[in-house]
Amino acid sequence: MKRVFVLLLALLLLPCLSCGRKTEEGAAEDPDIYAYDPETDMDNRFASLRSCIAETEDVIYWKPNDGSTLMYYDKVSGECAPLCGKPECEHFLHGNMFEPVTSCNAYCLAENGALWLIGDKFYYAAYENIPEYNAFSALYRMDADGTNKEKLMPISVPENCALQNYQLHRGRLYSYCYVNTVTDAEISCTLRIYSTPIDKGECDYTLIYERTTYNLSWCRMRFVGPYMYAFICYHDDELNENCGDIFRWNADTGEGISLYDGPGLGGGDAFWVDQNGVVYTQMYIDGDPSKLGRIVNGECEVVMDFSDPTGDYYVCRIGDGIVIGLRNDTETSWPADPEHYDIWLRNMEGETLYKGKLPMAWLEQMQAGATFYRIDTLTGDTDAIIAEYSVRWRNATHQNEPKGGCLVRYEITENGLVETVLGTYYEKIVNYGSL
Ligand SMILES: [Zn+2]
Repeated sequence: MKRVFVLLLALLLLPCLSCGRKTEEGAAEDPDIYAYDPETDMDNRFASLRSCIAETEDVIYWKPNDGSTLMYYDKVSGECAPLCGKPECEHFLHGNMFEPVTSCNAYCLAENGALWLIGDKFYYAAYENIPEYNAFSALYRMDADGTNKEKLMPISVPENCALQNYQLHRGRLYSYCYVNTVTDAEISCTLRIYSTPIDKGECDYTLIYERTTYNLSWCRMRFVGPYMYAFICYHDDELNENCGDIFRWNADTGEGISLYDGPGLGGGDAFWVDQNGVVYTQMYIDGDPSKLGRIVNGECEVVMDFSDPTGDYYVCRIGDGIVIGLRNDTETSWPADPEHYDIWLRNMEGETLYKGKLPMAWLEQMQAGATFYRIDTLTGDTDAIIAEYSVRWRNATHQNEPKGGCLVRYEITENGLVETVLGTYYEKIVNYGSL
C-alpha cells in the first residue's frame, strides 16, 4: 500500500520536475524549446546583417552586401574561392564581382543579409519581379555547394508596403516594412512586422507588430526557440526621445508581448537573446553607449560597463556568449583611421577575453591603393570574432569609385587575436551598371 502511495506521489510530482523555468506570464515551459537547432534555426550571430555570412564547423560562407557571388573559406585547407565547382568557370570577369558570369554556381542574387544556411541547404531571398503575385523578390533554396537552385515561393508585398531585411527561422520568413499614411494632412509612418510560413508555395502573412510614428523607425530581429524577438527603434514624439520596443512573438501560439518599451536603449545592433530567453542590449543614457543592459521585468539594468579612463568603449555588438566593445580616437572626421581602433571582448560574465588594438594586417592584402572605409560587421563567439571591412579606391571626384572588402576571422587566444583573412572582393561599376 505504501509503495502504491509513493508511486502515486511520484507520478503527481513528475510534471513539476520537468516543468523547467517559469516565464514572465507564469506559464511553465520546456527549457529545451530554447536550444539552438542548426537544422531549423537562425544563427543569431549573423542576424540582421547587411551582408550574408554563414558558418559550419569546417566552412565560412560569405556574400558581400552588394555583390552577387557567394564565396567560401575552407577552415582546414585555408582555401578561399567562389562557391562553384564548375570546371573552366571564370565566376566573374576581370576580377570584378560586378561582372559576374550568370551561369556560375556561385552567382546568387540574395538580397542584403537574406541568405541562411539551415540544415544542409541554403535559403535566400533574391530580387525577382513577379507581377502576378505582386512580388519583387522570391525565396530560393539550393544545396550547400551552390547547385540545385529551386524557387520555393514568390515573396508578395503585403498591403503594398516595402519589405525590408528578411529573416528565416524555423520554417517562417520574417520581414518588416513601412507604410506611409496621411491623416488630416499629417504624414506618419507605420512600421509593421510580418511573418509567413515558407512551405505553402505562396505567402500567407500574419501581421505581428504595428507602430505608427511621425519619424521613420527600424527593426532588428533575433530568434530563440519558437520566439522572434524584435528590437524596434522609434522616435517618441511626446517624449521627443529615441526609444526601443523589445517585442517577443511566439510563432506556436501567435501571442506577442512587449518586454521593454521606452527610452534608454541603443539602436538595436547590439542586441542578443540567450538560450534562456534573457535579453541583452546596448544602453544609451545621456549620450553614453558604454553600458550593457539586461531586460528584467520590463526594466533595463546595467550588467557590464565598458567605460575606461583612457576613453570609453561603446557596446558595438553582442555575439554568442561575447560582448564586443569598440572605440576609435581618430581626431578627424569619418572615415576613421584604421590604426586607431581598439576592441574590448568580454564574455557574458564580464571577464575580459581581449582588450587592445584591433589588428588590421588584412589591409596589406588588398590591392594597392585601397583605403580603409569602414567596419561593416563585427560578430562572433567566445572562440573567435568575425569582422567585415570595406575599402575604397579613391579618385579626385569620388564618382564611381571602385570598392572592395575583406572578411577576417580573429581567433581569441591567450596571446591576443590571431588574424586570418577569409576572403576579399573588388567591385567596380561598368557599363553604367547594366551587364
Ligand atoms: Zn563559377
